[in-house]
Amino acid sequence: MNQFLSRRIFILIPTMSILKIIFKPIQVLASSLPSKEGWNLSKDEWKSRLSPESYYILREEGTERAFSSKLNDEKRKGVFHCAGCDSPLFLSDKKYDSGTGWPSFWDSIQGSVETKVDFKLIVPRTEYHCSRCGGHQGHVFNDGPLPTGKRYCNNGLALRFVPD
Ligand SMILES: [Zn+2]
Repeated sequence: MNQFLSRRIFILIPTMSILKIIFKPIQVLASSLPSKEGWNLSKDEWKSRLSPESYYILREEGTERAFSSKLNDEKRKGVFHCAGCDSPLFLSDKKYDSGTGWPSFWDSIQGSVETKVDFKLIVPRTEYHCSRCGGHQGHVFNDGPLPTGKRYCNNGLALRFVPD
């Protein structure tokens, strides 16, 4: 090995370790912590409450296939509740057809959801979850209709619709 090459390796290795340290905090938790006492359930407790599909969305931040949820076409008046803890999250009059294949809302019920940034697709996205049980609901984007300009792109499997 010539001197030049070995010097490059000496520089490369510490650089990689520094990058690892920098990128570590970016990894996201599988789900968010609940804000309310009593909703800090174990994995097994959640598994017994939820279908495997809803568990994957709510507790492992999964995403359902586009156009797979019948709530995508739900047009009745009512309230969309968290499928994990039944907290009311969205009103039907804030729902709109975004054309994406996921139930979409331009606003949530105040205080019902909280956000955090995730990097699952490398590009940062704003994940949101039920503020009561911490269950993952979907992602919020800034390309929604007025007056908020927000698009809450929600997994149907994470919701339970209660008609008026
Ligand atoms: Zn919840």
